[in-house]
Amino acid sequence: MKSLQELTRPNIWSLAPYSSARNEYSGHAAHVFLDANENPYNNPYNRYPDPLQEEVKEKLSKIKGVPAECIFLGNGSDEAIDLVYRCFCEPQKDNVVAICPTYGMYEVCADINNVEYRNVMLDENYQVCADKLLAACDSNTKAIWICSPNNPTGNSINREEIIKVIEAFDGLVIVDEAYIDFSREVTISRLLGKYTNLIVLQTLSKAWGSAAIRLGMAFASKEIISIYNKVKYPYNVNLLTQQQALNRLSNTYDVEQWVKMLLQERSRMLSAFAELKICEKVYPTDANFFLAKVTDAQKIYDYLVEKGIIVRNRTRISLCQNCLRITIGTRDENNELLGALRSI
Ligand SMILES: *Cc1c(COP(=O)(O)O)cnc(C)c1O
Repeated sequence: MKSLQELTRPNIWSLAPYSSARNEYSGHAAHVFLDANENPYNNPYNRYPDPLQEEVKEKLSKIKGVPAECIFLGNGSDEAIDLVYRCFCEPQKDNVVAICPTYGMYEVCADINNVEYRNVMLDENYQVCADKLLAACDSNTKAIWICSPNNPTGNSINREEIIKVIEAFDGLVIVDEAYIDFSREVTISRLLGKYTNLIVLQTLSKAWGSAAIRLGMAFASKEIISIYNKVKYPYNVNLLTQQQALNRLSNTYDVEQWVKMLLQERSRMLSAFAELKICEKVYPTDANFFLAKVTDAQKIYDYLVEKGIIVRNRTRISLCQNCLRITIGTRDENNELLGALRSI
């Protein structure tokens, strides 16, 4: 791996970050806060929230087995994705490489940051070999994006290939594990101690049932996390989100039950869907959704919208012609979808 200084944009490496009022006194017990121009009334919403979300990180650290200093929390994973570009990629000079098809935000954020985005096509099993990803890199490639389980295909990317990429590439490898709780694979975050160029993304938006509160996580070396912390907005995760996250994280039993039900429903849906007249193929999945090739994706999508049922039409995505991406819902919701498709 290149040194972190070589990977970081020079202006970011030398950046003196904004120092907030609450950052400066840390370590002392205090009870009179006249430092931040807050209103003394309307407690607790009058106070700025913890800029580094330490309580949430402590809790996450125990659940995820990652040291708190190796955790970044952001306004959804989207913030952690955008920060890769803002911290490490020089506009109009550096580039990133990603599997294709995959989650759209990697490319949108590259475009916004004016950073070249290089696609590497998955094969017919939606897999990629390490050599193909590495061959797309040059000396200006700062990062490789791997989403596993992948969106919109649903499958996990072969772990041996991911490891090969991490070991052979001299830049950052970001593994997006938004769907890891639904997967047979174990999280790759176990290897953070071994690989200092690895960034793992997870989120409260899927298995944790908390998309509304916007809380995404990045796990990485503490050096990478300090660069993230330097560039992020000082109060990027608001108090309501931090409180709700603490609540959510103290009840892991619910999450286990939800995942169990969704996995049962997923297996039922995969079989039932494959039996439909309109279904040509159901792809294997490790996520809380599946991709299915149908006779005419646009027509079926429109038909379902008429019935008030919304799925994702992925027909215009590379390698996904005539594919619908279908999220696993409650048993009743899933049955409504099956019923509608049986009576086409
Ligand atoms: C849903 C999803 C996310 C989650 O994004 P948030 O901003 O945390 O809601 C991240 N990555 C992928 C691939 C996703 O599908």
